[in-house]
Amino acid sequence: MKNITVELCSHSPVRNAIIGARTCYKSFDRDDYADERNIGENNRKLLKRLIALGHESVIEHVSYTFRIKGASRGFLQQLVRHRIASYSVQSTRYTLKKLLSGAIVDPAEFCVIPEEFTQKEREALLGILLELKRAVKKFPNDVAKYLLPESFRTELVWTINARSLRNFLKLRLHPAAHFEIRRVAELVVEALPEEHLILFEDLVEGG
Ligand SMILES: Cc1cc2nc3c(=O)[nH]c(=O)nc-3n(C[C@H](O)[C@H](O)[C@H](O)COP(=O)(O)OP(=O)(O)OC[C@H]3O[C@@H](n4cnc5c(N)ncnc54)[C@H](O)[C@@H]3O)c2cc1C
Repeated sequence: MKNITVELCSHSPVRNAIIGARTCYKSFDRDDYADERNIGENNRKLLKRLIALGHESVIEHVSYTFRIKGASRGFLQQLVRHRIASYSVQSTRYTLKKLLSGAIVDPAEFCVIPEEFTQKEREALLGILLELKRAVKKFPNDVAKYLLPESFRTELVWTINARSLRNFLKLRLHPAAHFEIRRVAELVVEALPEEHLILFEDLVEGG
């Protein structure tokens, strides 16, 4: 599965979760935060303990905005089931325009191709794309898009807080998850700032 990328556009500081936690327990006297890379041993222990206890509302104060490019519309259908997040998805009206911009040689330019596909399946997908291109010339895009395969690539911006991201990673890094969303979950972990891994390390270790 090539050409799927996850970029972290921006994120809030871990400090937000520490302030939330320390406010709950009125324990700022134990706060040893220096900066984002040195949050302090007391604070590390506190965050880990609260996550282990399930007091995860404090990490809702930390959120991430990712730009996900090149994953399929089939993946998108699975991703949007995660309701506690915000989505801005490129309209197919614009993605379909790209079909007209030159000869379609390699279906991988427009579609996610599973490793299992042989030349035969790739040619079948190429046939669908050529049919789609003909339809885009003939109909408005809103009509032509009924020929879109699930494998068609898309692009979106995804904002999610750390608590909901934990739920996402727990479900989607699991071997039972579909391989494409699992790959995106791995890329999400890779895109996270190192100092934020404390919020996810129980899910990532051995995963
Ligand atoms: C391996 C796997 C297979 C799957 N197969 C299917 C399938 O065949 N068909 C299918 O339809 N889906 C399937 N799903 C999707 C799954 O059912 C969830 O919709 C998806 O994983 C989103 O999870 P979520 O609801 O926990 O996330 P979110 O929507 O982000 O919700 C986060 C959490 O908020 C709480 N919450 C949110 N909304 C409500 C609510 N209305 N009531 C109570 N609590 C709420 C829950 O605690 C929930 O865990 C599958 C998921 C996985 C991982």
